[in-house]
Amino acid sequence: MGWSFHGIKEEFDKALALHDKVHWDFVQIQLNYSDWKHASGNNINADYLYSEVTKKNIPVVVMEPLLGGRLSNIPEHVFTRLKERNPEGSVASWAFRFAGSPEKVLTVLSGMTYMEHLQDNIRTYSPLVPLTQEEKDFLEETVQLMLRYPTVPCNDCKYCMPCPYGIDIPGILVHYNKCVNEGYMPKSKLDENYAEARRAFLVGYDRSVPKLRQASHCIGCSQCVPHCPQSIDIPKELHRIDQYVEQLKQETL
Ligand code: SF4
Ligand code: SF4
Repeated sequence: MGWSFHGIKEEFDKALALHDKVHWDFVQIQLNYSDWKHASGNNINADYLYSEVTKKNIPVVVMEPLLGGRLSNIPEHVFTRLKERNPEGSVASWAFRFAGSPEKVLTVLSGMTYMEHLQDNIRTYSPLVPLTQEEKDFLEETVQLMLRYPTVPCNDCKYCMPCPYGIDIPGILVHYNKCVNEGYMPKSKLDENYAEARRAFLVGYDRSVPKLRQASHCIGCSQCVPHCPQSIDIPKELHRIDQYVEQLKQETL
């Protein structure tokens, strides 16, 4: 018998303390190379969760090894960095090796959509080559680089939907993240790729999200906020994105 943790630290500590009475067979935690030391929102750093569970010698089941897919959908320069380090391995394989490396990990859960995902994961775990300390340091540096890029931690779960005012919240945030990851986020007219990036952002926005469902129509009622498991301040992010869109349209960057 075991449990999956999705709460606050006090609840985690309380449930773990029950081990002395009930003897847990496993505890399931969110663990990946980003959340290890840099968990965002309500999430708790995985190094804390893992060390507390293993102090009691309980096997660990890992969920979200790819952080809702965000560790396979990374900025281009980070992608290049990982591929240069290991040209044979997929970007996702770094995350799966990280998740499978700690000694007390019993199993790693992965939502797989396509046959290639299954094949890639089987390759990574046949057999699993645990990360060296040097590789762990390399991933920590990689996370630091990723944190400098201001993507919104939306994993497209759609729990915030429907918005009573028809806003396509995940559609907007996913488009924004895609542009950040692909380098279509001009910061000023002086940017080398300004015209191309401006066009890619604006045309892509209109294609991905119908005009009436775009961020400019959010009235800031905050009804969506309590539904977001990533604790994203949705109206604030939508307002920020809308202001950016206006600057792009008016060419006032
Ligand atoms: S804050 Fe904006 S996105 Fe959220 S429910 Fe209200 S109108 Fe919709
Ligand atoms: S609930 Fe949060 S993480 Fe999920 S789609 Fe909405 S904004 Fe994104």
